[in-house]
Amino acid sequence: MKHNTLVQNKNINRSDKLIKVAVAQGDGIGPEIMSATLKILTAAGANIEPEFIDLGEQVYLSGNTAGISKNSWEVINRNKLILKAPITTPQGKGYKSLNVTLRKSLGLYANVRPVNALHPFVQTHFPDMDVVIIRENEEDLYAGIEHQQTQDVVQCLKLITRPGCERIIRYAFEYAKAYGRKKVTCMVKDNIMKLTDGLFHQVFNEIALEYEDIKSESQIIDIGSAKLAAHPENYDVIVTSNLYGDIISDIAAEIAGSVGMAGSANIGTNVAMFEAIHGSAPDIAGQHIANPSGLINASVLMLAHLGQLEIADQIKNAWLTTIEQGYHTADIYQEGKSKKKVSTQEFADEVIARL
Ligand code: NAD
Repeated sequence: MKHNTLVQNKNINRSDKLIKVAVAQGDGIGPEIMSATLKILTAAGANIEPEFIDLGEQVYLSGNTAGISKNSWEVINRNKLILKAPITTPQGKGYKSLNVTLRKSLGLYANVRPVNALHPFVQTHFPDMDVVIIRENEEDLYAGIEHQQTQDVVQCLKLITRPGCERIIRYAFEYAKAYGRKKVTCMVKDNIMKLTDGLFHQVFNEIALEYEDIKSESQIIDIGSAKLAAHPENYDVIVTSNLYGDIISDIAAEIAGSVGMAGSANIGTNVAMFEAIHGSAPDIAGQHIANPSGLINASVLMLAHLGQLEIADQIKNAWLTTIEQGYHTADIYQEGKSKKKVSTQEFADEVIARL
């Protein structure tokens, strides 16, 4: 089985010289899956040179309340390319999400999340699932405008702009066109949020008219999510706002087999960042059982973005063969069906053996 859901960006400066990448090892399972991924990239001869940056929990605990060092910003601004492992963000308190800060300050407006089933090798109820979720990445309830009004009243503002909608919706249709996809589905909740989600839907309808060859449809996000969970094979490209996209892409990855499998591309005009869709999984950190596939797939998206298509394909196919031949981390391991339960690093070694 060969797959071709690679993201390419015409804006990137392609060349044969070694491309420096800012690499963040992350928190929790981050260092384990990053080490596995870098090992594969090196073995495959990827034309990249990692420059390590510090961000996340450890930086915060060392007294830097921003959670990212000045030097890391310099490396990011110089390289304009980031490969990032997941970082821990405290829930309900503590420092601001660095993921949101990075996406907003670097103008990473499109979050592209391809998810497909690997039936029969990975257990799923949806063998024909092959969907790309394109999530607006800077606005909405994640714009970071939250206030304490009184002791008992707090407020979070939902920010939606016409230029923001136009950019992400056009990106989704252009993506569909470039990759031969047939349909784009818009999901928002404009029966309730008539102005904000209403604007997103209105812009979707306007832009859809420019793409006669691509089918377009709209669904209200609640029933849309339910239908996605029940019949994901009916979806092709989904475009949606920030929060909804965050939620439905985790659902999509989980029902395809595991949240540990999907990678993502955060695309901006000048900078791009690649990461797994999942978080730092503190519940399994340090056990060496995490599935590195999400970050491996993110690195494949990065190589395709850089125009290193041959190496991207080589890694993707070695990864697929490893999964097809039954070498599975604990999250996708099936007794009697998988050949061997492997650790994070063993999985990487099996991929390398198939390059
Ligand atoms: P999570 O995605 O880290 O974990 C959810 C569940 O999936 C856990 O049971 C975990 O063990 C499992 N899982 C996740 N990735 C896996 C993998 N690669 N292999 C095997 N199992 C895997 O979600 P969470 O627990 O809600 O979040 C933990 C932390 O991660 C939070 O601080 C959150 O803010 C952060 N987070 C970061 C990012 C990011 O850096 N991009 C994204 C999402 C969440």
